[in-house]
Amino acid sequence: MSALLIRGGCLYPADAGARVVPDGSVLVEGERIVAAGTTEEIEAALEPRQRESLRTIDARGKMILPGFVNAHWHDLFAMRFPFKGALRPAADRDDKPAFMALGGDLQQISVVFDSFHDQIDRLTPDEAEAIARYSMWTQLRSGTTTLGDVGSFNRPEALVSAARHLGMRCVVSTWASDAVCAPGESRFRRTRDADVVLRRIEDLLRDCAKDPGGLVRARPTSVYGVNMTDELGAGFAELVARYDVPFATHVGALRNEAEVTRGYYGTTPVRRFAELGLLSSRFMAVHCAFADDEEREMLVAANAHISHSPAKYGPAGESSLTETRAIPEFRRAGLDVSLSTDGAALPIGGMAEAMRVTWQIYNEMYADPTEVLPTDALAMATRLPARGLDWAGEIGSIEAGKQADLLLIPADDWRYLLNPRPLESFLALGGSTDVDTVIVAGRTLVEGGRATGLDEDELEADYIEALGTFSVRCLGVDPELVATLTRAARR
Ligand SMILES: [Zn+2]
Repeated sequence: MSALLIRGGCLYPADAGARVVPDGSVLVEGERIVAAGTTEEIEAALEPRQRESLRTIDARGKMILPGFVNAHWHDLFAMRFPFKGALRPAADRDDKPAFMALGGDLQQISVVFDSFHDQIDRLTPDEAEAIARYSMWTQLRSGTTTLGDVGSFNRPEALVSAARHLGMRCVVSTWASDAVCAPGESRFRRTRDADVVLRRIEDLLRDCAKDPGGLVRARPTSVYGVNMTDELGAGFAELVARYDVPFATHVGALRNEAEVTRGYYGTTPVRRFAELGLLSSRFMAVHCAFADDEEREMLVAANAHISHSPAKYGPAGESSLTETRAIPEFRRAGLDVSLSTDGAALPIGGMAEAMRVTWQIYNEMYADPTEVLPTDALAMATRLPARGLDWAGEIGSIEAGKQADLLLIPADDWRYLLNPRPLESFLALGGSTDVDTVIVAGRTLVEGGRATGLDEDELEADYIEALGTFSVRCLGVDPELVATLTRAARR
């Protein structure tokens, strides 16, 4: 087994002690980390057999970080034309707040989200695969080595196959909706049989349990409480228990959610998940800013996991951080609060941008620059979300015995001059495009910011082709317009 030495960088292991090793190295054998520490101690401990086959990556002038774990993401790249995407005019002066803004139009959201369910099956397998590959590639390129799907506008089997093709990790799920809370109706309306929805996620759980490469796992997720009947919720609880897996859902994400949920289902969002048997330490509450005092206590008592996407809130007009302060208060109460990107039809802020916003906004909210230290922001993007995905034994920090999921980020230009804390400079002035090297399970997938084993132009061309055929055939987008836009994109 050949050994890989990543030598002489500023090492941030993101371990529980939030250690920083200014001249650090990591020794990898096969897919695992065998040692991480000062360059001096790692070199002294090298065994003769390791020296013989040693490959070295020079990390001088770079930071060595664990791969980012983005535990709440959706592939929505199939919707790039119609969904707040490519068909918008170039000028932004006539923009109107969309349905996530101004507290949220939950009825509209429930109808639109439910409509995605049947459209997904209209993607051909080839279209689905091309879209999944490109969408996931943009995440990998930004330093995300592990994705947690919370329901995608794509076929789950395409996500599984794309993860294996790219060599990255993914916890896949399904787009699970069996109800709408339609405007003008006073009761929720069932849109499909809960058993059909449950069978699909159960098939995925069974298939992924057999994953030979260990890159892909599955978990059940609910796209939204407003899209879930009690039967579907009870079925999720049963699957969580039977397959011993975590569960994720958007909950308490929007100001108007409690009122709408009470109107259609007779209770508030967090209480409803609790009544259905889903509130536990395996519950990943996504966004979760709008919970009443008792619901907040229930989440804390259950030791639930909170995942939020602060780099997305401003651009979407969501007030999830500052309006209630619930999320930073959950963190103060001791819950694991992690960062994620969420998903959109166009690329949105990555994990680096989520770290920056967290570092800036939390500290601003509490008038205290130590509320979230740069190493706290890093843990929220690595070790904590790994715990939320129940994968922390293998990933999320740079420690001996764990999988070698690593990032190298250059930290030797004008932004870093005479600052002994490169992570701080990175949060101030860096971003997703600075990621230079991405290693997953000991395999170098990105080097010098470029894919090592994939043709990026081909990935992009295949995506544009699949997007065009699907949008014309299934979404009613004008073929002339698609041809014009995709021709321009290819140039
Ligand atoms: Zn989401």
